[in-house]
Amino acid sequence: MFIVLLGPPGAGKGTQAQRVAASTELLHISTGDMFRENVRNNTELGRLAKMHMDKGELVPDEVTVQMLLERIGRLDAVKGVMFDGFPRNVVQAAALDEALRSRGDSIDRALLISVRDEELIARLGGRWICRSCGHLYHERNDPPKKAGVCGECGGELYQREDDRPEVVRTRLDRQKPSAELINHYRSATVLREIDGEQSLDEVTRLLLEALD
Ligand code: AMP
Repeated sequence: MFIVLLGPPGAGKGTQAQRVAASTELLHISTGDMFRENVRNNTELGRLAKMHMDKGELVPDEVTVQMLLERIGRLDAVKGVMFDGFPRNVVQAAALDEALRSRGDSIDRALLISVRDEELIARLGGRWICRSCGHLYHERNDPPKKAGVCGECGGELYQREDDRPEVVRTRLDRQKPSAELINHYRSATVLREIDGEQSLDEVTRLLLEALD
């Protein structure tokens, strides 16, 4: 199964992708996580990506597509993938379709998580991430038991640079899935829309239901 998770920044794609991947055989691939890892390791790709990420803009398609295609070419991505944060536009969607088609696969489902702007802004300000294992928390919806400490591995929690309020606006403006992208999957009849303003468990349940 090859699944793409669509939704604006703050819709819960990362959290839900972790949950859905944990209860299925799917490999979770997040282009945002891949870029952040490159930034941490100060690679050439990381330095380039950071210039765009810090401003809330997308990293250029050419670079992103190349990184993603390299990743899905690895053995662990043969059986099934849950794509989180990719594709962000139709150029990327077409590149993914083509890569899958060349090996006899295709996207089975595109799950769109919808959330209103006001709610997205409130959410993006409260996110915390574990520096060691990447587990996601939210001050209001899913707080860690002990402030600043990961309940999964004891690692230190931090807030993303691009979750600062001034960057959040740009991310919402530039990174909402476009009507064109949504239509790309609607016309392939694989699109399912899920109301992302319900409890974490309920959204996970609906996503899993939409995969059956
Ligand atoms: P995310 O964790 O998905 O919110 O991604 C964090 C940042 O990484 C985004 O704000 C973009 O700058 C960059 N990024 C992640 N995925 C993509 C993508 N598919 N295309 C372009 N830029 C991306």
